[in-house]
Amino acid sequence: MSFDETDDWAHDGRYDLVLDAYTRIDDYLRQLWTWVQSQPDYRGRTHLLITTDHGRGRTPADWRTHGEKAQGSQDTWIAMVSPRMSQRGAWHDAPALTTSQVAATLAAWVGVDWRADHPAAGEAIR
Ligand SMILES: [Zn+2]
Repeated sequence: MSFDETDDWAHDGRYDLVLDAYTRIDDYLRQLWTWVQSQPDYRGRTHLLITTDHGRGRTPADWRTHGEKAQGSQDTWIAMVSPRMSQRGAWHDAPALTTSQVAATLAAWVGVDWRADHPAAGEAIR
């Protein structure tokens, strides 16, 4: 799934609608996770990873945009829940994660060694 509405509203300078979209997306994810947990075939066997392809500028002057000239665009985040991971909450005092690790992580969750065919990819997150 791709939730790109927040990017569109940010480019339009509509922070109020960015927040509305985040609230709506949070609720979509809550509904998805609630449904997954209600299904015996999926409960305890389903992994969920959410990330972003870029950050945004950090100041009132550049929060609407992203790219090489907007400091902060390089900052992304990854949220995940997996029955194979016991960690919860924000990871402080941990090595920085990168989006180069996403493919290997998703592949590892289904038992595939992504780096066997893509040695330049990042390590799976464990
Ligand atoms: Zn954009």
